[in-house]
Amino acid sequence: MNYLMLRLFARPVLAIFGSLFLYITLAYWLPQKFTASPIFAPLGAAIQENAGFVPLALFLFGTAWCVANGYRLWRWSIGEEPCCPRCGMMMEFRTGRYGTYLRCIRQNCRGKLDF
Ligand SMILES: [Zn+2]
Repeated sequence: MNYLMLRLFARPVLAIFGSLFLYITLAYWLPQKFTASPIFAPLGAAIQENAGFVPLALFLFGTAWCVANGYRLWRWSIGEEPCCPRCGMMMEFRTGRYGTYLRCIRQNCRGKLDF
Protein backbone atom coordinates (compact mmCIF):
# COMPACT_ATOMS: atom_id res chain seq x y z
CA MET A 1 0.00 0.00 0.00
CA ASN A 2 2.86 2.41 0.75
CA TYR A 3 4.41 1.68 -2.64
CA LEU A 4 1.04 2.42 -4.22
CA MET A 5 0.83 5.78 -2.42
CA LEU A 6 4.36 6.66 -3.47
CA ARG A 7 3.66 5.60 -7.05
CA LEU A 8 0.43 7.60 -7.27
CA PHE A 9 1.26 10.77 -5.33
CA ALA A 10 5.04 11.34 -5.53
CA ARG A 11 5.02 13.18 -8.86
CA PRO A 12 1.97 15.40 -8.13
CA VAL A 13 3.39 16.38 -4.72
CA LEU A 14 6.74 17.06 -6.40
CA ALA A 15 4.94 19.35 -8.89
CA ILE A 16 3.26 21.24 -6.01
CA PHE A 17 6.54 21.76 -4.11
CA GLY A 18 8.28 22.59 -7.40
CA SER A 19 5.73 25.33 -8.02
CA LEU A 20 6.53 26.86 -4.61
CA PHE A 21 10.26 26.67 -5.37
CA LEU A 22 9.66 28.21 -8.82
CA TYR A 23 7.65 31.06 -7.28
CA ILE A 24 10.39 31.83 -4.75
CA THR A 25 12.97 31.74 -7.56
CA LEU A 26 11.03 34.00 -9.93
CA ALA A 27 9.62 36.45 -7.38
CA TYR A 28 12.57 36.92 -5.01
CA TRP A 29 15.83 35.22 -5.94
CA LEU A 30 16.17 36.12 -9.65
CA PRO A 31 15.14 39.84 -9.40
CA GLN A 32 17.50 40.22 -6.44
CA LYS A 33 20.36 38.92 -8.60
CA PHE A 34 19.41 41.33 -11.41
CA THR A 35 19.32 44.53 -9.30
CA ALA A 36 23.10 45.03 -9.49
CA SER A 37 23.11 45.39 -13.28
CA PRO A 38 21.55 48.55 -14.83
CA ILE A 39 20.68 46.62 -18.01
CA PHE A 40 18.95 43.63 -16.37
CA ALA A 41 17.23 45.49 -13.51
CA PRO A 42 14.07 46.28 -15.57
CA LEU A 43 13.97 42.66 -16.71
CA GLY A 44 14.14 41.52 -13.09
CA ALA A 45 11.33 43.91 -12.17
CA ALA A 46 9.21 42.60 -15.07
CA ILE A 47 9.85 38.99 -14.01
CA GLN A 48 8.94 39.86 -10.41
CA GLU A 49 5.74 41.56 -11.56
CA ASN A 50 4.57 38.55 -13.60
CA ALA A 51 6.02 35.77 -11.43
CA GLY A 52 2.66 34.40 -10.31
CA PHE A 53 1.27 32.83 -13.48
CA VAL A 54 3.54 29.87 -14.25
CA PRO A 55 3.91 28.68 -10.61
CA LEU A 56 0.16 29.06 -10.11
CA ALA A 57 -0.51 26.95 -13.22
CA LEU A 58 1.96 24.32 -12.00
CA PHE A 59 0.37 24.35 -8.52
CA LEU A 60 -3.14 23.91 -9.94
CA PHE A 61 -1.89 21.16 -12.26
CA GLY A 62 -0.29 19.29 -9.33
CA THR A 63 -3.43 19.68 -7.24
CA ALA A 64 -5.65 18.42 -10.06
CA TRP A 65 -3.27 15.49 -10.61
CA CYS A 66 -3.49 14.62 -6.88
CA VAL A 67 -7.29 14.75 -7.00
CA ALA A 68 -7.41 12.62 -10.16
CA ASN A 69 -5.10 9.97 -8.69
CA GLY A 70 -7.06 10.00 -5.43
CA TYR A 71 -10.26 9.43 -7.42
CA ARG A 72 -8.62 6.50 -9.26
CA LEU A 73 -7.45 5.07 -5.92
CA TRP A 74 -10.97 5.35 -4.50
CA ARG A 75 -12.48 3.69 -7.59
CA TRP A 76 -9.90 0.90 -7.33
CA SER A 77 -10.67 0.39 -3.62
CA ILE A 78 -14.40 -0.14 -4.33
CA GLY A 79 -13.67 -2.42 -7.28
CA GLU A 80 -14.63 -0.13 -10.15
CA GLU A 81 -11.12 0.21 -11.62
CA PRO A 82 -9.55 -2.70 -13.55
CA CYS A 83 -7.23 -4.86 -11.42
CA CYS A 84 -4.07 -6.74 -12.36
CA PRO A 85 -4.85 -10.39 -13.23
CA ARG A 86 -1.69 -11.55 -11.44
CA CYS A 87 -1.57 -9.52 -8.20
CA GLY A 88 -4.74 -7.38 -8.02
CA MET A 89 -2.89 -4.05 -8.06
CA MET A 90 -4.06 -0.97 -10.02
CA MET A 91 -3.45 -0.78 -13.76
CA GLU A 92 -2.26 2.09 -15.95
CA PHE A 93 -2.73 2.87 -19.63
CA ARG A 94 0.26 2.29 -21.86
CA THR A 95 0.74 2.69 -25.60
CA GLY A 96 2.84 0.04 -27.29
CA ARG A 97 3.58 -1.39 -30.70
CA TYR A 98 0.19 -3.12 -30.91
CA GLY A 99 -1.93 -0.27 -29.53
CA THR A 100 -3.08 0.70 -26.06
CA TYR A 101 -3.14 -1.78 -23.21
CA LEU A 102 -3.33 -1.82 -19.41
CA ARG A 103 -0.23 -2.64 -17.42
CA CYS A 104 0.17 -3.34 -13.71
CA ILE A 105 1.73 -0.40 -11.82
CA ARG A 106 3.75 -2.73 -9.55
CA GLN A 107 7.34 -2.61 -10.72
CA ASN A 108 8.26 -6.29 -11.25
CA CYS A 109 4.79 -7.62 -12.05
CA ARG A 110 4.22 -8.42 -15.71
CA GLY A 111 0.42 -8.38 -15.53
CA LYS A 112 -1.22 -7.01 -18.68
CA LEU A 113 -4.75 -6.58 -20.00
CA ASP A 114 -5.57 -6.06 -23.67
CA PHE A 115 -8.75 -4.47 -24.97
ZN1 LIG B 1 0.39 -6.98 -10.97
